[in-house]
Amino acid sequence: MVSVRMASIHESTTLKISAMAKKLAASGLDIIDMGVGEPDFDTPKHIVEAGCSSIRAGETRYAPTAGIPELRRAIADKLVRENSLPVTADDVVVTPGAKMAVFAAIQALIQEGDECALIGPSWVSYEPCVAFAGGSVAWGKVDDNFMPQNIAETINSKTRLIIVNSPSNPTGSVFNREVLEEIRDLAVDHNLAVISDEIYEMIIYDHEHISIGSMPGMEDRTVTINGFSKVYAMTGWRLGYLTGPKEPMKWVTRLLSHSVSQATTFVQRAGVAAMQGPQGEVASMVTEFRARRDMLVNGLKDLGIPCSVPGGAFYVFPNVSSLGGGDAFTDKLLKDALIAATPGSAFGPGGLDYVRLSYATSQSRIKEALQRIEKILR
Ligand code: PMP
Ligand code: GLU
Repeated sequence: MVSVRMASIHESTTLKISAMAKKLAASGLDIIDMGVGEPDFDTPKHIVEAGCSSIRAGETRYAPTAGIPELRRAIADKLVRENSLPVTADDVVVTPGAKMAVFAAIQALIQEGDECALIGPSWVSYEPCVAFAGGSVAWGKVDDNFMPQNIAETINSKTRLIIVNSPSNPTGSVFNREVLEEIRDLAVDHNLAVISDEIYEMIIYDHEHISIGSMPGMEDRTVTINGFSKVYAMTGWRLGYLTGPKEPMKWVTRLLSHSVSQATTFVQRAGVAAMQGPQGEVASMVTEFRARRDMLVNGLKDLGIPCSVPGGAFYVFPNVSSLGGGDAFTDKLLKDALIAATPGSAFGPGGLDYVRLSYATSQSRIKEALQRIEKILR
């Protein structure tokens, strides 16, 4: 009954673990949920208010597929100001969540038999989106700090696309200018498209975020994706966006017009408020994330678990090869410590020795998690 194309995709491990953690917690178990990548903060009040007043004002009807003009303008202004991308509102397409932007961009850029290069452990949804388009993934190697090694090795005559995700989910690594220039040179030499998923751009510590699309030679080959979920704690609102060369964007819009139609109209109003309103709460959230990162990284190191220091996002990706490997240790964490985590294998073959712990949970819960881990290691 089910099409071959559908059968090519597997369940999202992150969402599966999130659902399982919620179910176990509802059954009365004291689960510490470090599984899903979802800020534990509330959406800032002025954003909520903008969404509510839009509903009250009756903005409950269809809007243009690519998004309401005010939001597309606000996004374009931001991309020019903060990311040095030479775009106008016409180049921006709003989506219900960045995930839909990722899905649509990959469908536009990959066809049967094409390959897409992913650099080291990569977010769970890229590979299924590529598989759904009829393509396959080549996994690039990374060093112990999750920096790319010999990316050129992953490129061959079938390669069409490289996905860059800096700061990275799951590793937290941030690519500096030299790394991005290397990727740029490969893309230009081999005439490849690049998707730059910048959803963790603002959640960054002591590093500079650079949009690869702003580099010379990249303007006609880069699709830049971003969203509101992480930076404004708006996961459930479902709001994201993308920008890129006119041709793929035309087809992305067409795909949206036949599938989701548009992002929810009043959610887009909330998005305008998020972009144009005060940014103080974003700064406070990032300060809090940094304190949690330090607590978790130092705590794991004190327990003898090797862990590189993430420069961004809200995940640590410690190496647990000496503790049975990622899958076994994740099971142990849940069974013996009631800690929900994501096995590194969910992020590709390079993740087998790792477990991903999300620190989008309070410092007191992180402290408790470290105590529980210490107990199971004894
Ligand atoms: N890209 C990455 C790297 C992510 O971690 C996420 C998290 N869900 C997304 C895209 C999609 O975000 P959303 O659909 O919630 O905007
Ligand atoms: N991106 C987050 C994560 O990796 C949320 C879940 C998802 O959409 O995959 O946990």
